[in-house]
Amino acid sequence: MSFLIVANWKMNGTRSLFVDFINKLNNKSNGITSKIVVCPPFTSLPDAIELSDNINIGAQNCHHKKYGSYTGEVSARMLKELECTYVILGHSERINETDSEIKLKSEIAIESGLHPIICVGENAENYKSRRTKEVIVYQCKNRLLTHSEYTVAYEPLWAIGTGYVPSNDEIAEVIEVIKSCIGEKQVIYGGSVSLENIGSLLRISNLSGVLIGSASLDFDYFYKIIQQVEETYNSEISN
Ligand code: PEP
Repeated sequence: MSFLIVANWKMNGTRSLFVDFINKLNNKSNGITSKIVVCPPFTSLPDAIELSDNINIGAQNCHHKKYGSYTGEVSARMLKELECTYVILGHSERINETDSEIKLKSEIAIESGLHPIICVGENAENYKSRRTKEVIVYQCKNRLLTHSEYTVAYEPLWAIGTGYVPSNDEIAEVIEVIKSCIGEKQVIYGGSVSLENIGSLLRISNLSGVLIGSASLDFDYFYKIIQQVEETYNSEISN
């Protein structure tokens, strides 16, 4: 299975910046064996979908109801109608979402034909008091489905946008915990992934990909990360 590289643009950029990013990625994407998923803000989704060749486009959220009186919200079916293929769910920056809402969103997303990337992760307090495993098991039981196709993103809250990253052993251990709760699934890591640490992260044998926030905003920088993955991960698995 190819390595998954997800770019989460959050609430950044402009339409023209994003169009430029996708065009550059299109030009370089021939021969890339990693699976690239780019998640722009909602307003750039139609441009991104129309322009992208080999690149998968994802949304950063959807609502947990199929339709209805939910002003300002976007449903999974609407995303599918745009020909979106992925959706990030349960990101910790979306505060006040409950585990059961995240689970419902995942069900509706899958039913609508989207592939959810569902986030789990402990906060700084739980990490410091060594409760990571307990929190991850709780989140797996309460927000993740057991029999569906989706990807899990392990995103410790204290690592997002901070420059801090857990050790490779810590990440590998959490991935095992997730798999022991929900079975064999693709588990990726997110939290301050950069050009400086991608080489080390690629040594985690049970890691299936990365979710990249701020380091995905600059095309040249992001592309260097892709190149590093191509050189390291994909050459290793073909040996
Ligand atoms: C994220 O947005 O999920 C994320 C991991 O951000 P960053 O890479 O900036 O830490």
